[in-house]
Amino acid sequence: MFATMRSDKMQALHFFADEATGLEAIIAIHNTRLGPALGGCRYQPYAGLDEAVADAMRLAKGMSYKAALAGLEQGGGKAVILRKPHLENRAALFEAFGRCIASLRGGYITAVDSGTSSEDMDCIAQETGFVTSTTKAGDPSPHTALGVLAGIRAAARARLKQDDLQGVRIMLQGLGNVGYSLAELLVSEGADLMVADIDPGKVRLAVDELGVHPIALGAIYEAPCDIFAPCGLGGILNAATIAQLRCAAVAGAANNQLASDDAADLLDSRGILYTPDYVINAGGLLYVALTHRGVAPGEIAGRISQIGQRLDSIFDQSLAEGRSPGEIADRQAEAILYG
Ligand code: NAD
Repeated sequence: MFATMRSDKMQALHFFADEATGLEAIIAIHNTRLGPALGGCRYQPYAGLDEAVADAMRLAKGMSYKAALAGLEQGGGKAVILRKPHLENRAALFEAFGRCIASLRGGYITAVDSGTSSEDMDCIAQETGFVTSTTKAGDPSPHTALGVLAGIRAAARARLKQDDLQGVRIMLQGLGNVGYSLAELLVSEGADLMVADIDPGKVRLAVDELGVHPIALGAIYEAPCDIFAPCGLGGILNAATIAQLRCAAVAGAANNQLASDDAADLLDSRGILYTPDYVINAGGLLYVALTHRGVAPGEIAGRISQIGQRLDSIFDQSLAEGRSPGEIADRQAEAILYG
């Protein structure tokens, strides 16, 4: 365990148990050089403690990189609560977790993640102020979509030599909280939008409300377009899907889009520009972090739009050095975190 912590440069791991509620939780703090660690709280079943610890550490490290490149004075952390088959009182569980966070005295700030909701964050807020994305703070997804829009514009500048999105053909995969907001923004920018979702109801709504073109699930990757925007699940870019792509760039909200390390090289070898996911999807993090600090909404929107400039610099450096944008992004983040 200590060897893994050292190799990942993990600052601290905290373990919590609460007899009364059955709570078992881990908080991983990766790096606090820039400020207190911020990152979501997952509530899901794990095969065992090792799997839960590995998940917390992997995600906490990702948050450090994301916060660093978003220009936030915030470190990276993540919490996982181990989900059991039976739970008596969900509110009491999250209140107990709130006391765990309080015991760290501001070293970790939590947020919504897989398996948790804004209502759970409200329970945590009964016990500590170090919590974001409560029902009062609102849904970060539309802000993530705003950042993705700025990133898609950057990809269009880099690959299509076009400053606006008028007539740009975009294939959007996933019309969820982020994807639907993004679809609205893209249509208002004049993009030629194709959409697909495993939920036919969401596709129907987008076709009726926004006038977009529906694409069959089996044709998502091979649909000819300028930009492919993955906004569903992660891990979708693998050898088989990359071989089907007929686009100039990939730029979307989904986390961990590359199924394996060699996926970035495969995209490169096909001449497809890859927009590093943790850079383009940082709008939601910017929103929760800056809202928690009491920053005004107008200033937050300005900070989110800077995602575009960050990507311009990553793409320029990638071109100049002949290295993938993902590698350049990691290097820029590491220079901020460890330089
Ligand atoms: P969501 O669950 O609301 O939406 C996901 C959508 O994708 C759903 O409509 C689902 O039906 C669809 N989908 C899933 N698999 C699909 C497939 N194979 N083909 C087509 N559609 C598919 O999630 P969300 O909050 O919109 O987040 C979308 C992605 O962005 C996730 O990967 C998430 O981790 C990432 N992300 C979200 C935020 C945020 O603020 N919500 C922030 C950063 C990153």
